[in-house]
Amino acid sequence: MTATRSIALRDVVTALDAELRTLDIPDFPGAVNGLQVANDGDVTRVAVAVDASLAAVSEAAAQKADLLIVHHGLFWSGAQPIVGVTHQKYRALLEHNVAVYSTHLPLDAHPTLGNNVLLAEALGLTPSRGFGRFKTLDIAVAGDSDIESETLVARAIEFSARYGGSVRTSVPSEGRRTRNWAIVTGGGASTDTLAEARARGIDTLIVGEGPHHTTVEAREHDLLVIYAGHYATETLGVQALGKWLGERFGLPWTFLHLPTGS
Ligand SMILES: [Zn+2]
Repeated sequence: MTATRSIALRDVVTALDAELRTLDIPDFPGAVNGLQVANDGDVTRVAVAVDASLAAVSEAAAQKADLLIVHHGLFWSGAQPIVGVTHQKYRALLEHNVAVYSTHLPLDAHPTLGNNVLLAEALGLTPSRGFGRFKTLDIAVAGDSDIESETLVARAIEFSARYGGSVRTSVPSEGRRTRNWAIVTGGGASTDTLAEARARGIDTLIVGEGPHHTTVEAREHDLLVIYAGHYATETLGVQALGKWLGERFGLPWTFLHLPTGS
């Protein structure tokens, strides 16, 4: 029997912070990127998930992971009393010695492990420029193509279904061609991204989800928005990061697939 490999949590966090540029990339206040919960100091098994849900925490503990890496961390709702489900979550983390590392926009924006570049690749698209300005940084991607939009929608449907999601579009895709596309994973459709799409001559915007009014605005401007599911469009980054970490430190890792229906 081989001994279980054990890496100092400190070293893992340092490597993640450097690779993801955690300290340099701006984000929303609730993101709290980086190490959110410590463990006793060592990592022997890594679990990755999209959300720091109670299900993810429980599954990580059941699999004896001592580090859980997530895209949506524990603090999105701001300061909360540690009662009810929140109490259950922290109790499970501390009892089972599971650290939590969260990476939101740093993971979206990463040039090779990022949700946006990897979704582009999965849909057969090649990014050539940035998109999705947030403060000082383009967190998403855009590029040129010349394909039937219907083909692209079909690829999105196939991709999303693999992760338990479904696809809807702002306008019918039949008869259209996608020549100038952009991708913003997760809650990517907003008045701002739609305005940016118009300013940059985008004809097809692929997102996870967006509020109802974005569909109305998109129709008014004859923009094809492909809503491919918040969860589905953000599954690739954490998996790539798990693989990267596994290879770098020789640690076993698993993806906790916990679809949310969104
Ligand atoms: Zn998200």
